[in-house]
Amino acid sequence: MSDSLITFIPQNPDYVPSAQAQQLGANLVKSLSSKAERVHVECSAKLRFIDCGENFERIGCPLCAKDIDLDWWHEQTDQVFSSGVLMPVSLRCCGATKTLNELAYEWPQGFCRFSLEVMNPPDPSFAEEHIEKLEELLGCDLRIIYTHI
Ligand SMILES: [Zn+2]
Repeated sequence: MSDSLITFIPQNPDYVPSAQAQQLGANLVKSLSSKAERVHVECSAKLRFIDCGENFERIGCPLCAKDIDLDWWHEQTDQVFSSGVLMPVSLRCCGATKTLNELAYEWPQGFCRFSLEVMNPPDPSFAEEHIEKLEELLGCDLRIIYTHI
């Protein structure tokens, strides 16, 4: 039995919406996806990484598009978790200076302190207008992560 998750995270990894905004956002998602198994809001003091599970294909450099070495990426991610901050790092492919959150993840993945997760929604995606409404309620632009586990 496999699960599909759609997780909304702020484009700015440190952004956490107000408690009221979180409630309004969760209510909107519940009303749009009432047959989903679960709608779950999570806030954390520390940064977390939301991965896309089996949808993972590669991580690319946002500048030169070359593959990012996964061993290097794991080492850098450990440093982010131990320091608690996303510092720009120099990429080995072309020397571009980017944070790990700015890499080209295929499919999308990312760091966050706030996440709104929908488990096994009946529809595989949300309409653009509903995403815009959710962004308005949460007060931020969103990255959408489709996870298959
Ligand atoms: Zn590069």
